[in-house]
Amino acid sequence: MTLLDKPVQFLKGVGPRRAEALARMRILCARDLLYHVPRRYDDASTITPLELAQVGMDVTAVGEVRSKGVVPTRSGLRIFQAVIQDDTGIITCAWPGQPWVERGMRVGDRILVTGPVRFFHGRQIQPREHTLLARASDGASPPDSAGRIFAIYPASDELPQWIFRRVFSQNLDWLIRQVRAEEYLPAAVRRDLMELPDALETLHRPRSLAEVDDARRRLAYDELFFLQLLQARERYRATRERPGIAFRRTNELIRALHGRLPFQLTGAQIAALRDIYADMTSARRMSRMLQGDVGSGKTLVALFAMLLAVEGGYQAAMMAPTEILAEQHAQRIGELGLDVALLMGSMTGARRKAALARIADGDATLVVGTHALIQEGVDFRALGLVVVDEQHRFGVRQRMVLAERDPAPDVLVMSATPIPRSLAMALHGHLDISVIDELPPGRRPVTTRLVGPDERGQVFREVGERLDRGQQAYVVYPVIEESSKTDLRAAETEFERLRREDFAGREVALLHGRLPGDERDAIMRAFLAGRVHVLVATTVIEVGIDVPNATAMVIENAERFGLSQLHQLRGRIGRGDQGGVCFVISDGRDGANDRLQAFARTTDGFQIAAEDLRIRGQGDLFGAEQHGHRTELRFADILTHGDLIAPARDRARALVDADPLLTADENALVRFLLERRYGDRLELFGLG
Ligand code: ADP
Ligand code: MG
Repeated sequence: MTLLDKPVQFLKGVGPRRAEALARMRILCARDLLYHVPRRYDDASTITPLELAQVGMDVTAVGEVRSKGVVPTRSGLRIFQAVIQDDTGIITCAWPGQPWVERGMRVGDRILVTGPVRFFHGRQIQPREHTLLARASDGASPPDSAGRIFAIYPASDELPQWIFRRVFSQNLDWLIRQVRAEEYLPAAVRRDLMELPDALETLHRPRSLAEVDDARRRLAYDELFFLQLLQARERYRATRERPGIAFRRTNELIRALHGRLPFQLTGAQIAALRDIYADMTSARRMSRMLQGDVGSGKTLVALFAMLLAVEGGYQAAMMAPTEILAEQHAQRIGELGLDVALLMGSMTGARRKAALARIADGDATLVVGTHALIQEGVDFRALGLVVVDEQHRFGVRQRMVLAERDPAPDVLVMSATPIPRSLAMALHGHLDISVIDELPPGRRPVTTRLVGPDERGQVFREVGERLDRGQQAYVVYPVIEESSKTDLRAAETEFERLRREDFAGREVALLHGRLPGDERDAIMRAFLAGRVHVLVATTVIEVGIDVPNATAMVIENAERFGLSQLHQLRGRIGRGDQGGVCFVISDGRDGANDRLQAFARTTDGFQIAAEDLRIRGQGDLFGAEQHGHRTELRFADILTHGDLIAPARDRARALVDADPLLTADENALVRFLLERRYGDRLELFGLG
């Protein structure tokens, strides 16, 4: 405990009632308050002296309220007016139709207003936004950072701006003195990053806006470092706490598979295999992610890894997120002349028993299945490697179950969601990462065509021509059912229409997430077998299977999908050698055109992911579950601070490798701060 853990209630000017309101903003202790930094700044250069506010301008101005009142008009509209004054002059501010503004304002208050200057019995500002900077007769109010920069705090109705400003004016110096004891970075490591107390003081009281970026950068580093520390712990538990297997590589099976392949591995596949073989032959457990676009040849790389395990006398298992995918993996491995056992939840009776027996006595060396593989009642004789397909379907708890199996198999997870390297490192610091950033040669890229809704008829005619040639197609909709709230096209309605009109006489099927799992499986199987020609679907096909004969896709209301989602959808076609076409239908609403054009221009998933990150920001990615909890990065922005991730990760890993439980004296402060940030989840990482 330090003084910064003191409940916020005991700070000057707070008290029990405000403390309750602060708690609703998740500000509980003094430290929370210190980290409640302004959300934006208005600097003097953007503030217009009242004398210079001319009709027609849009201004931000600051003044003291001289008089105020609600003025009724003949039309019944009530207008709140306040006359404000600064060193240069006075002006009226008017809030038509908002008489209630009066309640929050007193004569003598200092306010900041932003809005247009209009003419109405003289010059008048009509504020879009106003902020109470200081309460009337509030002697404690400070000059605004040398009077030049206005810091605007995130505030609420119960806790308006001026309260934050006053509370900070009374407590900031004390808070900054306390936080000096929490500088955990030695100068040699910190290098050009700001010192922690300086950074926090700068954010509350900047001398210039330029400094604010440097201050944020320091706090961004802290966020990334502690996130990496948690991930370094997960990695330590998974790979260092129990002995791994040093696989013996005989090359017998590996060479045989090389001999049977009708093609050469790509350079990126070879590089990934080099990483994997090095991990597997070392005595440490492997915990690696293999990242690569759909079709980049990850499964084949995984298969080589599995063969290395088998050569060394172990079994290897591959887990897929759905039964169809598992079947498909098994079939493809079988086609390469290898003996593979399949185990899935839906298997029952004698088949299941036989599979379990082969797995238990070690007769089955290559095993493919669903999550059922690592669950109750499945005993392997000697499981040496687990390959996890589509890792994002797994949560931290499931990963931990896998990590804690005894004896401990090596783990390789595969992800078909390409993301920029810095982001991968930030999200998956617990894993080592290999990237396949190259597609096998000779692929015919899918052509993408952006079309408007009025060209829909023509699009379906072109799709029809492909069906005539014996090919298949997907038509994707953003929603299942029509709704009165939107005019989005819906899969159910359009399915009925397509089978009656555009695709009359063809087999059309409907697939969406509300169908029971076995029905979905049956429909996918029929599509795979060619019995269904057109599959009308929602995004459930994102992580679908390979249907090489499906060469066309139509995506309706494309503006509703994220770029990466579109990319995953498009990845379903063009798997064969006929070349594919993807029609992207959108009326270009919501400024979607730039996005969709970017999508149509490239088929490089990494480029698309980078663009997606730039457009949508990292919120979705980090807002999603991380480590079984929400992880919010308030200061770190992957695009701006990407260069900080590798140093943060390296330092976190070095610390944990040298002092796994962070019990050494010199790590006491880091450990304390880690508890402050992630106290609720330390148990999961063996630090509780
Ligand atoms: P991913 O799992 O990354 O989506 P796959 O492993 O399924 O990709 O590979 C897609 C297809 O490409 C498969 O048919 C596979 O046999 C083939 N393939 C894999 N590597 C190569 C290569 N180096 N050259 C040519 N084809 C390859
Ligand atoms: Mg090993």
